[in-house]
Amino acid sequence: MVFWLLAFLSFTSFSAQAEIPKNLKCLWVAYPAFKIIEKSETVLFPDGTQMPYPDDSGLDPRKDFDQIVENVTSLEQMFLIPYPAGFQKNPAGQYIVRAPGLNEDPGRLRYEAFFKKIYGETQAAARSNQVWVNWAVDHSKWLFNKKFGAAQALEKVSIDLLKLTHKHPALAHYVTSPLGGTFNWRPIAGSHNMSVHSFGVAIDINPSKTDYWRWDISKNPNQVPKFRNRIPAEIAEIAEIFESNGFIWGGKWSHYDTMHFEYRPELLMSKEYCEHQFNENYPKQP
Ligand SMILES: [Zn+2]
Repeated sequence: MVFWLLAFLSFTSFSAQAEIPKNLKCLWVAYPAFKIIEKSETVLFPDGTQMPYPDDSGLDPRKDFDQIVENVTSLEQMFLIPYPAGFQKNPAGQYIVRAPGLNEDPGRLRYEAFFKKIYGETQAAARSNQVWVNWAVDHSKWLFNKKFGAAQALEKVSIDLLKLTHKHPALAHYVTSPLGGTFNWRPIAGSHNMSVHSFGVAIDINPSKTDYWRWDISKNPNQVPKFRNRIPAEIAEIAEIFESNGFIWGGKWSHYDTMHFEYRPELLMSKEYCEHQFNENYPKQP
């Protein structure tokens, strides 16, 4: 009797350990708009739409990058290239902007249907979720998506940047108008995928001195361009402010886009934070 009881207990505790993947918990913490069907690790929206989390494509995000970037088939693929938050400094205390490895593009693998579902499936739907954000640095106004804290995060970025430019006036040029822009419903140039600007969750800072890989590839179409970043290393201070408010930087992509910052809090949260927030807030199953 005792044996069977113990066997039963160990069986139940084993099955309780069939854990939801940590990155899926981060996804829910960032965008708590869905339920998780635990058995199949599927995301379920209130309207019945389901999206798979597990990646069973057998593709390698580094080797098969071009194929995956055009057609992300699972939510897990968005996490396969981890985003390296923060910057290293050299012994003199100066920031180092590291050139990413081949196809190291953390955040560029996006499951498009997910972003459409949470931010707006059509131009009109996405537009209806935009609010005007005051860019504190120069008091210009920019549309940004109000959902999941995106617009609030952008406003906070601009306040932190204003403080930074008081300390380092030379940096003001990079973050004052003319900025590249925010909300813009359009496909990515050279791709059938929608740009994240379509949802109003990305901002391009002043493009005048920034670099974008597609501008360089057009000069030499047979070659992947060598990483370029003409912004001085102090850009790291700007990028750190964005990162601490939930934005990733396109300057950490081998397919560089150094003016581009994108609200992707799920890629920046620590696993411990996700775990804690998920356990506290995810509705318990009846
Ligand atoms: Zn951009």
